[in-house]
Amino acid sequence: MPNPKARLLIVDDDPLVCKSMSTIFTVLGYATRTAPNGFSALNAIRDEAPDIILSDLNMPGMSGFELLSVVRRRFPSIRVVAMSGAFEGKSIPAGVAADAFYEKGSHRPHLLLAAIEAMTRPQESQPAHFPARSDAPIWIPTNGHDPSGEPYVTISCPECLRTFPQVLDKNARSALNTTCAHCSNSIQYAIVHSMDPLPTAARQ
Ligand SMILES: [Zn+2]
Repeated sequence: MPNPKARLLIVDDDPLVCKSMSTIFTVLGYATRTAPNGFSALNAIRDEAPDIILSDLNMPGMSGFELLSVVRRRFPSIRVVAMSGAFEGKSIPAGVAADAFYEKGSHRPHLLLAAIEAMTRPQESQPAHFPARSDAPIWIPTNGHDPSGEPYVTISCPECLRTFPQVLDKNARSALNTTCAHCSNSIQYAIVHSMDPLPTAARQ
């Protein structure tokens, strides 16, 4: 595509969602790539930064919460649309570093198209709600236990975009600090205990 309206990166663990959204936006004149989770999305961003990211929030591996907080820190010029079926309405869920929110399954795709179109207009190209803040913590949902039973999280370094496991202090509640295992960058992060509204049975 010689002159795409914008370069999109669509992130969703449902391949059907990736495929259908990719088809729609390609027809509308956008260049699209897809990724099945946050880790793959960071790799895709490292290859070439997109103009706009559309990301599901609830994904196995690295969730959209974490991906979007890393993107906001490291690539503040990339516009971001968070997508989820677990939140209702048009407002951005608390704690999500996004410029817009789309309720999946709302059968109102025109709202999503309108949000994307608005982001490609030059006068609206500046992120309005989330100016880059170097002190913003990376939000990380708890995502498992290591072999010895210790709860741990996978942290994404906003500097080098690589990931490493971090065992959690179970008393940890608020913002924490750690050092990147790869580049020694200092990282502030926060654990999301209650952001995942899906019942346990619905998770993967
Ligand atoms: Zn690093």
